[in-house]
Amino acid sequence: MAARKDAVVDVNGIRYRWPKQPVVVVCIDGGDPAYFRQGLEEGFIPNTARFMKQGFSVVAEGTMPSFTCPNNMSIITGTPSSKHGISGNFYLDTKTDQPVVMTGPELLRGGTILARFAAAGARVAAVTAKEKLRRQLGKGLELGGGNVCFSSEKASQCTRAENGIEGVLDLVGMPQPDIYSMELSLFVLEAGIRLLERDRPDLMYLSLTDWVQHKFAPHEAEAKRFYREIDARFGRFAELGALVALTADHGMNDKSNGAGAPNVIWLQDILDERFGKGDTRVICPITDAFVGHHGALGGFVRVWCRGRATPRQIIEAVSAIDGVEQVLDKDNACRLYEMPADREGDVAVISRADACIGGAEAEHDLSGLAGHRLRTHGGVSEARVPFILNRPLNEAYRLKAGVTTLKSHQIFDFALNGAAS
Ligand SMILES: [Zn+2]
Repeated sequence: MAARKDAVVDVNGIRYRWPKQPVVVVCIDGGDPAYFRQGLEEGFIPNTARFMKQGFSVVAEGTMPSFTCPNNMSIITGTPSSKHGISGNFYLDTKTDQPVVMTGPELLRGGTILARFAAAGARVAAVTAKEKLRRQLGKGLELGGGNVCFSSEKASQCTRAENGIEGVLDLVGMPQPDIYSMELSLFVLEAGIRLLERDRPDLMYLSLTDWVQHKFAPHEAEAKRFYREIDARFGRFAELGALVALTADHGMNDKSNGAGAPNVIWLQDILDERFGKGDTRVICPITDAFVGHHGALGGFVRVWCRGRATPRQIIEAVSAIDGVEQVLDKDNACRLYEMPADREGDVAVISRADACIGGAEAEHDLSGLAGHRLRTHGGVSEARVPFILNRPLNEAYRLKAGVTTLKSHQIFDFALNGAAS
């Protein structure tokens, strides 16, 4: 749609310029800056290294809690979770006393950059590794006419009606990847390359999965292999003339002790002992159907008061626990981390980089971790992410970048408005 070159698209109060060339934003799930540092030191990510040198690179702040869904929604709406409403995978509905899954599009507030550009006539592609993200990514996105939205998890089942595309396996030239594999992410990038070659979408959002980072530290061979592979594909996007923007939803930390066992604070057990069973309810918002690689253990949990214990008493009881970095009441948690108050617990508990928090020990299945150290995320120590463009910034955005710590949800703003022409 070359005729729209002067157009501006307003999304949630931010004006985005029409892309001058295809813009590819990649969310490297679990892409802690430490993985890129390792790659730079050892020289196995030459394309990313070139972007960082010739374009723009900082470490930005992600959305808290540092989980997958909140951060993906921040990136595609350009807003913090206080605006878009997705602050985890679960929250507690205090009327029914039931945990509510937050991964449905109906809970996402406001429009997405992808949907608004498509409505303005841009060709838009959204590809994600896991199906659970797909419906939120595709919220309001009119499919067909070159607009597509699909996951590599369900690539073999894509239909024109549901995804705007069929025959994805043939297009990509890879077999259906396993849900627990690095190929699930590589498939997303390969699909992006094929779409860029064939349809040349104006805007692409490619969201990977953090299976590799949950399993392997930056110095381990499999992690290096994965980064070598994704870097080669980033290079291919640049070769095809795309503006490439790289960020992550969250980082990743090793949370095991010297013996290799997970360093867990079983918060529900501690609170039950202190205040009595049923008095408090701990919700681990990292919980989802795919807990094999993290056992539903993360660096951030919410506590709801269901009986006599007050937030102040809970804060007093929890702040003394070794491994806890921060305990906040609802107001302070929402103010400090820009989270939606109606989905926040009475108390938010954040763990240190080397520790994680669970509910009741009996309710977590850690068998999926067998033989591996626990690596996971959710806290402030995992909320630092790469923010890289393959083009330098224009004058205005150089100034903008110089005065504040950037947020990962500004990545579309910087890619569309900030790249030097
Ligand atoms: Zn993630």
